[in-house]
Amino acid sequence: MATVLTSAQSSDVQIKQTKILIDNKWVDSVSGKTFETINPATGEVLASVAEADAADVDLAVKAARKAFNAKSAWRKMSGSERGKLLNKLADLIEKHAEELGTLESLDNGKPRHVAMAADIPLVIACYRYYAGWADKIQGKTIPINGDYFCYTRHEPVGVVAQIIPWNFPLLMQAWKLAPALACGNTVVMKPAEQTPLSALRVGELIVEAGFPEGVVNLLPGYGPTAGGALSRHMDIDKVAFTGSTEVGKIIMKAAADSNLKRVTLELGGKSPNIVLADANMDEAVEGSHFALFFNQGQCCCAGSRVFVEEKIYDEFVQRSAERAKRRTVGNPLDTKTEQGPQVDNEQFTKVLSFIDSGKREGAKLVAGGDRVGDKGYFVAPTVFSDVKDEMKIAQEEIFGPVMSIMKFKDTEELIDRANKSIYGLAAAVWTRDIGKAHQIANNVRAGTVWVNCYDVFDAAAPFGGFKQSGIGRELGEYGLQQYSEIKTVTVKL
Ligand code: NAP
Ligand code: MG
Repeated sequence: MATVLTSAQSSDVQIKQTKILIDNKWVDSVSGKTFETINPATGEVLASVAEADAADVDLAVKAARKAFNAKSAWRKMSGSERGKLLNKLADLIEKHAEELGTLESLDNGKPRHVAMAADIPLVIACYRYYAGWADKIQGKTIPINGDYFCYTRHEPVGVVAQIIPWNFPLLMQAWKLAPALACGNTVVMKPAEQTPLSALRVGELIVEAGFPEGVVNLLPGYGPTAGGALSRHMDIDKVAFTGSTEVGKIIMKAAADSNLKRVTLELGGKSPNIVLADANMDEAVEGSHFALFFNQGQCCCAGSRVFVEEKIYDEFVQRSAERAKRRTVGNPLDTKTEQGPQVDNEQFTKVLSFIDSGKREGAKLVAGGDRVGDKGYFVAPTVFSDVKDEMKIAQEEIFGPVMSIMKFKDTEELIDRANKSIYGLAAAVWTRDIGKAHQIANNVRAGTVWVNCYDVFDAAAPFGGFKQSGIGRELGEYGLQQYSEIKTVTVKL
């Protein structure tokens, strides 16, 4: 199983784990089936991974249910002990950061140095942040009418299914696991089929940290099979999902049709990034470039509708095109690389078809517009100007390195246009006018608004969507609510 990668584009990291984790044991799938995970930079197979299906889901749910039993080691454990385990896990991730960053880069395609500078520190911070909460989850005493003593308890929801995407494999695992475990739930998680390797390595660290059997179960596999079985399962109390709005709807329906399990969803976006004429131009150009192209454009909150005020429109377009042309695309293991490949052939093909539709619908191509090279799934950083609100590239989530720039005249009209989307995940405004900044921040319908910055994330600050961008919030104190049931106890005095 321990494969040593030797090809030119690979590092010498060992792939230590490719099996399913149930009850702290690494097992093959019941069916014996496996699937291949590939390196999107080369198209080469990295490893064969056990393919979980409904039968494995059943076994994992049984283990998670047993671990949630009132007499289990996990349920008897104090909050501060749970916090210690989460901190231990953070220590182990820190210790193995280089290895995890390399795995993340190989499986996902993101530049390794970016994974080391951005993803890994956020992962560690997230586990530590929720470790700190584990012994501070508490209810209230409530002065009700009559001779009663009334109080609330914040209890864990129970067995939680978590289905995560491939764009930030380790970070999405942390955003899901850390609050769930801080609150005392047990978890059955399905990592994305494109990127199972780092999640499984963290599974080994979870066992090493000393989490009791059955508390965290990891099931690599496909969405419609393993993911479907999780969302339909009658003995799962909650499902938390991050991915496309389309699949979010399927999951919510399955939850409703089965046992009405709780549902939280973190879905897609088409976030307006608004540049006013008085903005610091250097910062607005570089910040908007980062807002769109970071992570190969594979961010749910990417600033993908760039609205620029008429007066500075031409200059902004020209400078954004120049910046995109300077973006370095190539080997994710090279420290000079800014942009690696898209995650797989499906996403690569989809992004190229969006670029075609932009050309067909009459947007003006000012940078990029095609693939890079003839091996791996690299797409040239692409910029369209003269984009109209109705165009497909202005409406749908591209999830790739394609920037669409639109023009606006006055702020009133702008707010309506910015809000004309089924999504409401994030927004940004670039301006020196503090009044306008707050006015826009108050009126855009989005879960996060950045002013003169973009993609500033912190485990303490909640994140999630308005409208079809999702239900619920992750991170921060608000994130705890999604993993707790409130119980009201009333005692006659
Ligand atoms: P996706 O299908 O929504 O995948 C996200 C997760 O859901 C994966 O673990 C996937 O399994 C699983 N899944 C798929 N179908 C399922 C089902 N019927 N029941 C339960 N789980 C299911 O996303 P995708 O196909 O990878 O990407 C398509 C688009 O989704 C992207 O272009 C982008 O627009 C959006 N997306 C958004 C985010 C985000 O952060 N909000 C992340 C990724 C993608 P598999 O392992 O089989 O894929
Ligand atoms: Mg892969």
